[in-house]
Amino acid sequence: MSAAQHPIQLQGIALESIAQEFGSPVYIYDGEKIVSQIKSLQSAFATVPLKIKYATKALSNISILKLVKKAGGGVDAVSIEEVRICMEAGFAASEIMYTPSGVNFREVKEAVELGVMVNIDSLPLMEEFGARYGNTMPACIRINPHIMAGGNAKISTGHIQSKFGISIQQLPEILDLVKKFDIKIVGLHIHTGSDILDAEIFLRGGNVLFEAAMNFPDLTFLDFGGGFKVAYKAGDPATDMAEVGTKVSAAFNEFCDKYGRKLELWLEPGKFLVSESGYFVVEANVVKKTPQITFVGVDSGLNHLIRPMMYDAFHDVYNLSNPDGELKPYNVVGYICETDTLAKDRMLPAVSRGDLLVFKNAGAYGISMSSNYNSRLRPAEVLVWEGKAQLIRKREVFEDLIRNQIVLDI
Ligand SMILES: *Cc1c(COP(=O)(O)O)cnc(C)c1O
Repeated sequence: MSAAQHPIQLQGIALESIAQEFGSPVYIYDGEKIVSQIKSLQSAFATVPLKIKYATKALSNISILKLVKKAGGGVDAVSIEEVRICMEAGFAASEIMYTPSGVNFREVKEAVELGVMVNIDSLPLMEEFGARYGNTMPACIRINPHIMAGGNAKISTGHIQSKFGISIQQLPEILDLVKKFDIKIVGLHIHTGSDILDAEIFLRGGNVLFEAAMNFPDLTFLDFGGGFKVAYKAGDPATDMAEVGTKVSAAFNEFCDKYGRKLELWLEPGKFLVSESGYFVVEANVVKKTPQITFVGVDSGLNHLIRPMMYDAFHDVYNLSNPDGELKPYNVVGYICETDTLAKDRMLPAVSRGDLLVFKNAGAYGISMSSNYNSRLRPAEVLVWEGKAQLIRKREVFEDLIRNQIVLDI
């Protein structure tokens, strides 16, 4: 690890000064990075009619969603609440794909009433959907292609034991239901998991879609899902988007010739669009030497950033307050009463109490997976856009914690 931890600047503003202005802990996003990721996808897939459906669940702040919309993206929502947040952000129903997993039919009805396309993920849902709507409401089918892929078991969604989608082996049952209720299927979808590196996996998924698609004459799009891997540290492999774009587009164009019509190619990137835009800044509460390890205890924990404990995820850490200090080994840990290691065995410029540390790549599945565990307040969010750092979510206050409690007269 090199000693030089250069000052991090977002659109010319020092990250440290943003954190000082808005306080700690705080999630800070670089809007330009989100837009440039969208552009890199658009150029990688320039030879096909591409639609980007940003996976809202990665980071669902309304200002971020507005930025995605401005950059030409649509959205994928996995709950009715996400559908409604997307509408708050100004997305038309036609720009929203609703991809539920095992939800109550009431929620599907609500989505249909809002005019949002439903991505059908089970045979019972297909039966109920068909019986109620027949051919009046175009729909998509989430196919489980039985491909094992993804960074780890918790984020693999396309293998044979996964709960997601309808098994490709059940295609005959799917076709029976489509015929029985005359359901208008306009799209087929797969999402095999997250942190997928190889173009080959997307191509294998594509081949499952292409073959299945020949059974559906009314298609307007094929949706390849998300799951592109980004680099979490220097030298980490990341999905080569240009390669994926070239290979998948070529296969897709060939398929369209065979299908007889040009379809749209949809992608649902979550992490790829927002991970690298995000910086999570915390403050060192205590530096605690023990016989074996020096711990830095920070004013945060798995309640704000669960990825290290949940997925063994690696987030690079910088010491913003002492970038040129002597490198020493630390474990950066949270204040939660539970083992919540945020970064293990890291060489950091000497940390003192009060130093601001930053976790990089914190845009995706950071605040969107945060909680109030230990009755802690959730952090503020700040967006840097057009050279200005602006608050896009207030830091929670104590009243937020107890707002919905009903205190009995005991
Ligand atoms: C989570 C999810 C995505 C995005 O996954 P990333 O790994 O963040 O790209 C896309 N589509 C669906 C249906 C999802 O559930």
